[in-house]
Amino acid sequence: MTSPEPDSSARPALSPDTLVVEIGRPPRTDGASVNPPIDLSSTFVSTGDISSSPYAYARFDTPAWSPFEEALGQLEHASLPGLVFGSGLAAISAVISLVPASGTLVIPAHTYQGALASAEQIAQRQGFDLVTVDIADTEAVIAALDEASAKTAGPGMLWIESPTNPMLEVGDVPALTAAAKDRGFLVAVDNTFATPLLQTPLDHGADIVVHSVTKYLAGHSDVVLGAALTSSTELRERLHTERSMRGAIAGPFEVWLALRGLRTLAVRLDRAQANAQAIAERLAAHPTVTETRYPGLPADPGHARAAAQMNGFGAIIAFTVDTAEKATAIAEAVRLWTPATSLGGVESLIERRRRHPAEPETVPEGLIRLSVGIENLEDLWADLEAALG
Ligand SMILES: *Cc1c(COP(=O)(O)O)cnc(C)c1O
Repeated sequence: MTSPEPDSSARPALSPDTLVVEIGRPPRTDGASVNPPIDLSSTFVSTGDISSSPYAYARFDTPAWSPFEEALGQLEHASLPGLVFGSGLAAISAVISLVPASGTLVIPAHTYQGALASAEQIAQRQGFDLVTVDIADTEAVIAALDEASAKTAGPGMLWIESPTNPMLEVGDVPALTAAAKDRGFLVAVDNTFATPLLQTPLDHGADIVVHSVTKYLAGHSDVVLGAALTSSTELRERLHTERSMRGAIAGPFEVWLALRGLRTLAVRLDRAQANAQAIAERLAAHPTVTETRYPGLPADPGHARAAAQMNGFGAIIAFTVDTAEKATAIAEAVRLWTPATSLGGVESLIERRRRHPAEPETVPEGLIRLSVGIENLEDLWADLEAALG
């Protein structure tokens, strides 16, 4: 695959907030486009052995994906370009499909509910065991890995999501990864909440990172897209085959929009995190709120761990009020926040999570998830405070 990059070996190492602006651009020649074009071709000129052509047919690879795949690969510190998928869940399904029938998938009980539902379905079809764990309880996760190694013959996979959606539990990514690798498990991390600007799990030894690009990376709630990243040639090949054979591929325009969104990731995240920190502090002090979960709060159970392994605390907050009715009323009373599912866009969203029938019963009925956007802090707080009252 040819690199669309200017020669980066000639430059000093760039910070991630510069990289998001710089990477994935066409070579600098007079008259060249500053942005990659949207390549709509479904097929490419290729002679002889089809596998020797960098591009042959757009279900396998296309120049429409390459700039974004190379950019995300660099950001996640993968030695190989990423693989873009038609949605986060398509990437997740491809990765979970790597678990063999003889293995066990150890997965957080509060992982994104769509990922858990998909994992349960794939486990049933492929015949592997699935065990749910509290990802914040390192000892319990290690005990589950030991039990799985004793019970099943083949290698398994540890799925890590940290912070989790929607409970904001923080797992010890370095310790969990090391323990799983010691026991021969593959480690996959859903890095959607953190983004590569806040944590790069491949640096801790994880085998695969997945993203719902739909969220922060694209950042404007106008694209559904996913990605998987790895530094293993073998794993990338298997995931590539999974993508090509199942056909869950991304459209050229969606990927172009995601790369465009990526350009502002650092400034969006800075502003959203600053807003989230202030809002979490105010929620924690509010009489209507029974609990606030945000890793940036010093009293949060995940605070120390997040401070040690992340470059920031993200912009998702979970807080609870005492009843489902009250939570629903709050989500209906806001005027600036948008009552909607999803997260990671520039606009602030609010949702009572248990309105999803598939959300686990261990998520409180009165739990509200906030995706804090980049609006003015005082405008956001005034609207939320009025709804709480
Ligand atoms: C939204 C989300 C997904 C699913 O991604 P889609 O792009 O909606 O398919 C997976 N993981 C997490 C953490 C998410 O928030």
